[in-house]
Amino acid sequence: MVFLVSFTIRRKNLPIPILRSSFADMDLKGHLTFERNEHAAKDFGNIYHFMPSAVLHPKSVSDISSTIKYIFEMGTSSELTVAARGSGHSLAGQAQAYRGVVIKMESLREPEMSFHTGELPYVDVYAGELWINILHESLKRGLAPKTWTDYLHLTVGGTLSNAGISGQAFRHGPQINNVYELQVVTGKGDVVTCSEEQNTDLFYGVLGGLGQFGIITRARIALETAPKMVKWIRVLYSDFAIFSKDQEHLISSDTSFDYIEGFVLINRTGLLNKWRSSFNAKYPLQASKFNSEGRILYCLEVAKYFNPGNSDLVNQNIDTLLSELNYIKCTLLLSEVPYVDFLDRVHISEIKLREKGLWEVPHPWLNLLIPRSGIHKFAQEVFGNILADTSNGPVLIYPVNKSSWRNKTSMVTPDEDIFYLVAFLSSAISSSTGKDGLEHILTRNKRILRFCERSVLGVKQYLANYGTQEEWKAHFGTRWEVFSSRKSMYDPLSILAPGQRIFRKAT
Ligand code: FAD
Repeated sequence: MVFLVSFTIRRKNLPIPILRSSFADMDLKGHLTFERNEHAAKDFGNIYHFMPSAVLHPKSVSDISSTIKYIFEMGTSSELTVAARGSGHSLAGQAQAYRGVVIKMESLREPEMSFHTGELPYVDVYAGELWINILHESLKRGLAPKTWTDYLHLTVGGTLSNAGISGQAFRHGPQINNVYELQVVTGKGDVVTCSEEQNTDLFYGVLGGLGQFGIITRARIALETAPKMVKWIRVLYSDFAIFSKDQEHLISSDTSFDYIEGFVLINRTGLLNKWRSSFNAKYPLQASKFNSEGRILYCLEVAKYFNPGNSDLVNQNIDTLLSELNYIKCTLLLSEVPYVDFLDRVHISEIKLREKGLWEVPHPWLNLLIPRSGIHKFAQEVFGNILADTSNGPVLIYPVNKSSWRNKTSMVTPDEDIFYLVAFLSSAISSSTGKDGLEHILTRNKRILRFCERSVLGVKQYLANYGTQEEWKAHFGTRWEVFSSRKSMYDPLSILAPGQRIFRKAT
């Protein structure tokens, strides 16, 4: 099933020939396309498809600024909106603009990536740059960003508009924590540089701001010395309370692992044997006899970075850390991989899924941030009952410390010091009406959300997908006032990021 949106066409929508001729006056270094723009009406979610009227392929920041200025100056006489599109890995049309202009951020390839290698190293990048390219270029200088997403073929502007959360976030916070400066084009077309010292309100507003206040055109990203190798470890638990206690214990220490995540496994056959193509079992005989079938298991996934010279020391450190945990002993799996392979691990799965035609399917993902106080109740009902024996894709679960997150950004988190990211990363089979069908998974997601609401767990959605402003108000809670007043200040006509469905353009 695909949601083809058919809003009533209003008078203020300019027909394409008129649009084409009015944009023709603009002095662009790049260009606009008015046909064959179907790619801009697609995203990774593959559920929502909104056709734009035009796609801008900018070659300079002023291309973006003059396009927005032009639309802003039309005022309420036009319904044209503008969506920045990074790599289009949104899930529900967030980077699309129905009958508007989509800006293909990957076309803006200036300024060139430039590194500063002083005491606080950083890199300046254009916002359409992919994190994987930043990784490769940084490593040439022995450096790397501090914090990641699990998948790196996403753009800087796309993840900074959300948060960018992964297994390093318990220590370094999300990616929006590790940015020193941004260049932004506001909804009025103004080009503004902002940071913690300069235009602070815009800086915090844009970070996690869902593209509402401006289009990020350049970012200055914090770097650290990069390790060469990673010791990558998985262990299993059958008891959720013990699993989460161990996860929380690990994130509480400064000398813990460098990456801490986890996932839920429901009724998987021959689990450890399948993983043994990439991992070595510490106790191979016992591991080969381990039966995962019919069980709910929790996998703790951790990693410790190291350089070839200090492997022994790191092994001792890992032994100490593992000795403090209560996992099922025979399930200990270990692997050693180059740092770059560890970070780019999801891309390997992408290649395999693409080969099988299973990458470009609908992805009805649901990402939740759950306060620590509610996680046991949540696990009991959702993993033990709602999910039952279904397995439509990975279910990630790991805690983070709120104290290491910047609290002035637009991103909304639960009101507790520790909260969990729980991500249901489902893939659907378009033609199926069974448990792997889109309808079934969407209904299941709704059941999970209803349970959270009924139980008043204080859950927040991440990469949220709401249809009405009322729902967004509830999402932002006490922070709605700041969020909406920033909107009036930086994008008063609500031109930007209409696909988030938070504000509607004033007409
Ligand atoms: P797009 O989908 O192109 O855009 C997303 C939103 O940001 C849109 O509203 C768009 O208008 C806006 N936007 C894009 N560029 C700009 C810009 N330059 N300025 C202002 N607004 C802009 N997220 C995590 O946090 N952690 C993960 O581990 C993680 N793993 C993922 C794995 C996969 C396989 C996928 C598909 C997604 C994953 N995500 C993860 C989600 C991902 O971070 C978001 O979907 C992100 O928005 C994708 O970046 P993008 O460049 O594709 O953005």
